[in-house]
Parts: sequence; C-alpha cells; structure tokens
Amino acid sequence: MSDHQNDQPMSREWHYYPDLPLQNPSPFRWPPDPRFLLRWITHNWLSVSERVLMALLALMLWLYAYPDLERAQSFAPGWIAQTWLINMGLMICVAGGLHWYFYIRRGQGKRLKFDRRDPAKGNRLWTFSDQVRDNLFWSLTSGVGLLTAFQVLTMWLMANGFAPTITFAENPIWFLTALVLLPIWSAFHFYWVHRLLHVPFLYKHVHSLHHRNVNIGPWSGLSMHPVEHLLYLSSLMIHWIVPTHPLHLIFHVIYQGPGAAMTHTGYEDLLVRDKRRLALGTFYHQLHHRYYECNYGNQEMPWDRWFGTFHDGTEASTQATRARKKRMHQGI
Ligand SMILES: [Zn+2]
Ligand SMILES: [Zn+2]
Repeated sequence: MSDHQNDQPMSREWHYYPDLPLQNPSPFRWPPDPRFLLRWITHNWLSVSERVLMALLALMLWLYAYPDLERAQSFAPGWIAQTWLINMGLMICVAGGLHWYFYIRRGQGKRLKFDRRDPAKGNRLWTFSDQVRDNLFWSLTSGVGLLTAFQVLTMWLMANGFAPTITFAENPIWFLTALVLLPIWSAFHFYWVHRLLHVPFLYKHVHSLHHRNVNIGPWSGLSMHPVEHLLYLSSLMIHWIVPTHPLHLIFHVIYQGPGAAMTHTGYEDLLVRDKRRLALGTFYHQLHHRYYECNYGNQEMPWDRWFGTFHDGTEASTQATRARKKRMHQGI
C-alpha cells in the first residue's frame, strides 16, 4: 500500500509509513482557520469515524447495558459487578476482535502495518515470556479494574448530586459541545500525564512497562503499570467538576479503555475492499514507542510542536530526538 520507494532510508526502518513529514491535523492553529475547523468537525463527527462509532456504542450501552444511575446511589455489589463485566466484555471484544482480525486471521496481511515484526514470544522481558499474554494480563486486571473504579465512583457522585449533571433537553448545545470537547480534553490530559511518566524515576518504575511494547498491538494500548492506569484514567475526573451526562461518562470510558486498543493496533487504517474505512493507529504514537522522548501527546493537540518534542517521522527528527534523550539521561 505504501507508495514510497524501497530505496528511501525510512523504508529500512518501517514496513509502512505515511507521507512525511507528518502534517498538522490540529484544529488549534493561529490565525484561526474556520474552514479547517469545519473540515475537522466533518471528518471527526459527520462521517463514520472512530468517534461517531464510540458515541453510538455509548448510546447503546447506556440504554441497554450499564446500570441506571438510580441504582448507583449507594455502593452495592450488583451494579458494580455489572459495570465491571460490561467493561471486561468491551475490552475483550474490541482489543480481542482487533487482535484476532489483524494478528490471527491476518485479515489485512501486513498492509498499512508500521512495524514489520510479529508480536514477541519466548522473551523473559515479558510477563509470562509472551507479549500478548503480558498485555492481556495488565489490560484485564488493573486496566479494566481501575477503569471500572473511576466509572463507578463517578456514577455514585452523579447519582447523589455531588457531581454536576445535565440532560439533553435542558441544554442540547452544551450536551453536543461536551461530546466534541471530551477527546480534546483527554488529549490535553494525556500529554501532561505522559510527560510526567517520562521523568526518569517514574519511567523506570512505572511507564517502562507500557514501553516494553516497541512493536505495538491492540492489547498494548491499555497494558500499563497500575500507577500509570491511575494517572491515565484520572482524565475521567473531569466529570466530577464539569456538568455532563452519564452518556458522556460512558463515551469517555470507551475512549480511554477500548479506544487505547484502537490507537495501538499497529496498523494505520482498517481496509475494506482496499479502501481505508476506519482510522486506527497513528504513526505519531508509533514513533513515540520507537524513539521514546518525542510525541508525548497526540496529533490533535499542538503541545509537542510548541514544546519542541515533535517527531515528524523524518531522519532529521530521529537525530534530534536521540540528542534530546542523551541530554535527559545526562541530567542536563
Ligand atoms: Zn502507547
Ligand atoms: Zn511514553
């Protein structure tokens, strides 16, 4: 699928890579560009995008699966277990489904796969000496556990009036705006939490667990140390302060949990009859997994560009990142 010539230096590094240098898809630009913003809204919210699918899934789960807010007024095993089971099922369906399609059935071969390697086996670096089992373990224990804990606590706060809530009928404009803003908030939060995790002490004891995954797969997304889960999922605490609806909370839970599996698929897009139908991983984050001290955020927020940690995918950026890493390790 790649149009690049095999003799280009990047072709030795990657199996597939998009056109480089990476473009800036962030709606935050100066001077403001209303036409770009409109295209951004259309691309993310008025087409069959990852976000629209997640919002529809959130609606379905709110209507038919998750416990009603009334039940969340006091902590009881029934509704908490129900929430945990749904989250477990969601992770298994999304991460497991993507893993099955791309890595077991090999539905797309290696087309649009960034790294040419298969998941690692027989290496004691991993828990159970197996990358997929290691990733499954961390995702399904503290990953789903803490995701559920944050959700349950937020539901309890909402049900008791300790966290502000809204309804669609009361405020349809804020309802829709909050939905559009949540992924932007999540990206903002992720950037700063992620920079914190790269402070050498936290990196060594916590974040390195996620970074064992240089060659990523769907199960790598939520494969983190419990302390990282706690920091990463604290994004959900926004619902404790900003007025939202339980549907927003569910959307946010999907975005942070199963959403991480989608962004770590290792492939850029899902192909259906050779057409790119669904955006999955980004080369942006794949670069972070290979070169570490770059691209802490995601493409949506301009922080990496503003703070000089942006890797645009080119050889020159790799050299600059290596120099930054050296400086960090020398403590300068
Ligand atoms: Zn990652
Ligand atoms: Zn990192």
